[in-house]
Amino acid sequence: MRTKIKNAWILTMNGNMDEYPCGEIVFDEKQILYVGEKSEIQAEVEIDAKGGIVLPGMVNTHSHASMIPFRSLQDDCPDRLRRFLIPLENGAMNEELAVLSFKYAVVEMLMSGITCFADMYYYVDKLAQACDEMGIRAILGETVYYEPTCDAKEAYGGLELGKKYMDSWGKHPLVTLTLAPHATNTNEGTIFQKAMEIVKEHNTILMTHAAEMDYEMKYFKETYKLSPIEWLDSLGCLNDHTLLAHCILANEKDLVLIQEKNAGVSHCISSNMKAGKGIAPLKEMVAKGIPVGLGTDGPSSGNTLELFSSMRLVAQSQKTKHHDRALFPAKEIVKLATIEGARSLRLDKQIGSLEVGKQADLICVSVDAPNMFPMYDAYSALVYSACSHDVKDVFVAGKHLVKDFQPIVNRKKIREELSTSMNDFRRIAKEIEKSL
Ligand SMILES: [Zn+2]
Repeated sequence: MRTKIKNAWILTMNGNMDEYPCGEIVFDEKQILYVGEKSEIQAEVEIDAKGGIVLPGMVNTHSHASMIPFRSLQDDCPDRLRRFLIPLENGAMNEELAVLSFKYAVVEMLMSGITCFADMYYYVDKLAQACDEMGIRAILGETVYYEPTCDAKEAYGGLELGKKYMDSWGKHPLVTLTLAPHATNTNEGTIFQKAMEIVKEHNTILMTHAAEMDYEMKYFKETYKLSPIEWLDSLGCLNDHTLLAHCILANEKDLVLIQEKNAGVSHCISSNMKAGKGIAPLKEMVAKGIPVGLGTDGPSSGNTLELFSSMRLVAQSQKTKHHDRALFPAKEIVKLATIEGARSLRLDKQIGSLEVGKQADLICVSVDAPNMFPMYDAYSALVYSACSHDVKDVFVAGKHLVKDFQPIVNRKKIREELSTSMNDFRRIAKEIEKSL
């Protein structure tokens, strides 16, 4: 079905950063057919954006969508991951909860204008089915971990499990399965190498947490006299199939390596700042041309699964860190949330900008709310004034998944089902909290 959106302030995010303050875009399920001032192409559906901003769907480059039940639990607990999150995950996570949480998270992301995301979790075959049902674009990595996990009885069981899922899932227009060794300090080198081999065979990306934790840096320095990034490189695991989440503690030498090997980075500002871990060297990464996208991280880490607050935090943290108001103009920030995110996931040929022939993954941000008036510069409005509740319409591959602020799925039902399935989780969380 062909759709036309008219009377829109269109930000194409193409190579020239073309924009049309009163433009039209026409698309179908296969591709974008027209972007510009006015189209003669007829469409079955016409939407009047009433001056709203149309831009490519946002790309969330790092998340753990199934962790919704953990949101707002022990947010201020020191060393929360090792003391609280992992014991709770091992004790309370199961397939049903992972899938219901994931569906809830997909609704939240779609409603906030995220049309594509990269996720690391468990039971990814079931999560892939949920994506297929709900119509969102995703790369889902089965987590590989040095201890048994909720879906693997043996240490590193995720490797075989993930490979099996990848083989049986095959090619899908929207959903790709892959492997995600949890972090540099929670996997052996040989596991990373095996995972990279499988990832290359399937031409996907390997996702991992890297240069994120103080104790991770200390461990690599003491054990190998290397940084985690240098260690990954020494294994042959730093290349254009690698997506590194965080890189907060990457030094200049690491950044040169990431640049030379053409690896991608996911910058998770909201999660990093909440945990007090530091501000990643984003200015230096971007100056080197490293593909960097924005990530929400899991709902227990960044709490909200939207990129509006991340865009603002990225701009504010970098300007503050470098004492430079002119650094990262709003236009550059919107690039990180769209085309650069797509580039970091190696999906920039299909999505990330509004260009004829590309997939119609796009959103319309309403300017009706009080915070959106007046609007002189659409990029500034998106970064500094807008919030996720201003997202009015969302399309993935031309399909209208959020219509007039509401998802096409029954979100109340999804929430009720999730809440019911959280009873055991709530009890176990309380028990672990008592032991902290
Ligand atoms: Zn993460």
